Amino acid sequence: MMMRRHVIKYVIVTCLIVFVISTVFCFKEKTEVQAKEKPLVLVLDPGHGGSQSGAARDNEKVEEKDLNLKIAIYLKQELESYENTEVYLTRTGDEEIELPERIQFAVEKRADALISLHNNAAGPCAAYDHGCTVLAAKDGYKDALARKGQELSCNILNELTKLGLTNQGILTRDSEADERYPNQVLADYYAIIRGGVENDMLTVLVEHAFIDSNSDYKAYLSSDEKLKSLACADATGIARYYQLVKKSQENTVNHGKCLLEPLKEYKEKLVHVVDGNAKHNEISYKTYYGVESKQLPYDMETFDQITKDINESVISMHISCD
Ligand SMILES: [Zn+2]
Repeated sequence: MMMRRHVIKYVIVTCLIVFVISTVFCFKEKTEVQAKEKPLVLVLDPGHGGSQSGAARDNEKVEEKDLNLKIAIYLKQELESYENTEVYLTRTGDEEIELPERIQFAVEKRADALISLHNNAAGPCAAYDHGCTVLAAKDGYKDALARKGQELSCNILNELTKLGLTNQGILTRDSEADERYPNQVLADYYAIIRGGVENDMLTVLVEHAFIDSNSDYKAYLSSDEKLKSLACADATGIARYYQLVKKSQENTVNHGKCLLEPLKEYKEKLVHVVDGNAKHNEISYKTYYGVESKQLPYDMETFDQITKDINESVISMHISCD
């Protein structure tokens, strides 16, 4: 009798374990299949081009448009080393492309994100003359989209700062021509950001460093290797935000686990430009990825937690079986 009870208990426990393990594998397979069905589409936009040289360094033949293109080419290479990622460039040479065309290109590619790549020069709207900043959509119209843009900005700034660049925060800016969104809130000042909002497309503009700052130029922009480092930082920030997996890790036992740690309790400075005059800027701080926010892109945190819970219950069942 004791023996029979033991056998029944053993069969039940075995069935449970098989069920639990198959559930884990099904979940994992489903996640991978879903991920493969829809690749992450990123459009990189090297700022300026052709007769529009962007910012420049006096006395030296260094123009922003060329630096932006090099960063974009390196960034494309680096992003393509991640699984299931499609990357397009709005220009691959020294071409002049208007902003609406760049936005339209990204819309046609059904981009998950449009990332415009620039380098800064000192001007009246910001009270700083060196360091990195990311321009993103302001709050007040499509808040969920604005939040995503700000979160991607946090990830990029976090990586650029690791190179030693001064983090000048996220910059949002009001239209100075009284352009408004349908809810009457002042529109975003920058056409590419506004175009992204109007097309429900996550759009950010990265100002890597100041081309007219001697220290920034020397440390971050003065060689191809340095531009490559900027591109790698951008790629890591993007990969961290989207929880991308490196292609080389695809067939390892750790597949699905080799992800960059998501940001936690990340506090970022927001500079809101109200009228183009630095002394009127509104400065605030926001915490992103706080303990209350559980949803990550691709929901990997939930996946990991479920896997952990199931593994723990399998272990406890083994114990009860003995
Ligand atoms: Zn520019």
